[in-house]
Amino acid sequence: MQIAEAAVPKREEIEELLREDLWELGRRAFGIRRRMYGNITTFVSNMILNYTNVCVIGCSFCAFYRPPGHPEAYTYSVEEAVKRVLAVDARHGIRQVLIQGGVNPEIGIEYFEELFRAIKSKAPHIAIHALSPLEVEYLARRERMTYREVLERLKAAGLESMPGGGGEILVDEVRRVISPKKIDSDTWLRIMEEAHKAGIPSSATMMYGHVETLRDVAEHLHKIAQLQAKTGGFMAFIAWNFEPGTSELGRKIPYPKTSATLLRMVAVARIVFDGLIPHIQTGWLTTGPETAQLAMYFGADDFGGTLYEEKVLEWVRAEAPVDRREDVVAVIKSAGFTPAERDNLYRVVKVYGG
Ligand code: SF4
Repeated sequence: MQIAEAAVPKREEIEELLREDLWELGRRAFGIRRRMYGNITTFVSNMILNYTNVCVIGCSFCAFYRPPGHPEAYTYSVEEAVKRVLAVDARHGIRQVLIQGGVNPEIGIEYFEELFRAIKSKAPHIAIHALSPLEVEYLARRERMTYREVLERLKAAGLESMPGGGGEILVDEVRRVISPKKIDSDTWLRIMEEAHKAGIPSSATMMYGHVETLRDVAEHLHKIAQLQAKTGGFMAFIAWNFEPGTSELGRKIPYPKTSATLLRMVAVARIVFDGLIPHIQTGWLTTGPETAQLAMYFGADDFGGTLYEEKVLEWVRAEAPVDRREDVVAVIKSAGFTPAERDNLYRVVKVYGG
């Protein structure tokens, strides 16, 4: 991993940037994106394996989880999980499986070791992009191991990169309101640092649009930039909108933020992370494919991936499906960009020209 040399902007500078004129932000961010990637927008053929919806953390913004013993609770056995991965691969041909679930007290480190090994032995071409700092922290407590030991064991079993969920907003006052039982900001950052040092690169994420202020967003971006300057382990930054759905927080904040907010976040991230984090990803799931198309003009160079089997925001996905590789290629092309399929480490494997 290359340690970035660009200066880390101060929190106050980022806050000022967040208040700037949207078109001006877009113009600057698009210039950086153009310089770095020309007309290419990457994506990955990906499946999401939500291996369990059982969770004891109970975040107020989450409509996916079920407490242990709930009639709708599920956990895939290793066999079932592997079967699903192989079935999706046979149908669509995937390069990455994103494995994430709730914090389920019934699942120990052996489950993941077995699962990762089984996938790698049957489908070595599929990269394992799995777990969040939250799941690593829980495993460390459960198994009485250090974060480093957990990460080393998972890496030895086949873990290649981490998606980095659970970042939300890395300001503890905000976390105490939206997910009081989740790990604090320092722990999230410490586990990411350990992962990077162990040779496991990751994404950095942000979920905005709930109780945070612009100052909190600036603080979040600043903390990520600081860690990146130290480790160089973040491959991409991904911001997404809080999706109210049927979550507890959704009853208090029933309307998601508009597309303009996503464009602002994407553009500011591109400017702040210039020379630090190479890729800015725009997901289409929470704000729709049209906004994701616009986001490419506001600095995003990566479209994320196909979301075969995704369950966390299943109801949103059903409204505007961009499920197959052909769908993603078509969406990127119709926005005026050249789609390029990549692997989990953002290496381009195929360009869809013409
Ligand atoms: S967001 Fe993750 S940690 Fe929070 S309740 Fe949902 S599954 Fe659990």
